[in-house]
Amino acid sequence: MDAGLVAPCEPPSAAPEVPGVKPHPLPKTVAPLPDELLSGWLSRLAAANYCDDAELLAHLRIDTAHGTALDFNVDAAAAAKIANAARVNPDVVRSLTFPAMTPREASLTAQMPFQHCMQCAREGLSLRHWRRAWAFDCQVCGTRLVQTLGKLREEQISGKLIYRARRGAGMLECAARSRGPKQLRRAMRAVTFAMSLKTFRGDPSFAVQNPRSEVRLFCLAAIAAARSHPLAKAAIVSKSIDDYARVALLRAFEKEP
Ligand SMILES: [Zn+2]
Repeated sequence: MDAGLVAPCEPPSAAPEVPGVKPHPLPKTVAPLPDELLSGWLSRLAAANYCDDAELLAHLRIDTAHGTALDFNVDAAAAAKIANAARVNPDVVRSLTFPAMTPREASLTAQMPFQHCMQCAREGLSLRHWRRAWAFDCQVCGTRLVQTLGKLREEQISGKLIYRARRGAGMLECAARSRGPKQLRRAMRAVTFAMSLKTFRGDPSFAVQNPRSEVRLFCLAAIAAARSHPLAKAAIVSKSIDDYARVALLRAFEKEP
């Protein structure tokens, strides 16, 4: 890790006085970085103090084994304990969690990490935007995010699929942030369709947050395909899908009025 990220030790007297919290600041602290997620920062804090995440949380007397449980909601007591230990303001701790979201945004924001930037992850970073279903490239270094699980090796993924999936991801972001529900409904219809082709099961919003790249990329690409051709038309004109897909597509539309 970059030694520049580790702040110098300060005497414990520098800790802000928090009533009811026994101050036991950590020997070393690290400064949070822009867009860093609370759980990621806690991991770096643990690493700087030669312990793991669970040991750090136990030391702070926070009743959870995983920092990810705090990313969406950290209560005042936990924020105060962390702030005290790391010698930062509790507001800083809270700023590392997700802000209030619309239900649409929330449905497309993963509770657990499902993708990361290899480059930044190597430096111990875990960033907030990686949890968004529409995030495709790392906003810090520009590297394409990769899914945390997957049967496909990176070199097996075609450039064409990546190109389409990136476009679909951009459309998904617009849909998630648009005023009306129509755009997102349309995107999710394309995802549902893509899932039926590949016999993936489950909720379409989870498919685009899938830790397996073969699921996620295909579903994102379907959003882009549905935009450029309405699905029924795509079934007939598209040369980019194989015969098997075309048959399945036509079959899906036979059931629709
Ligand atoms: Zn990166």
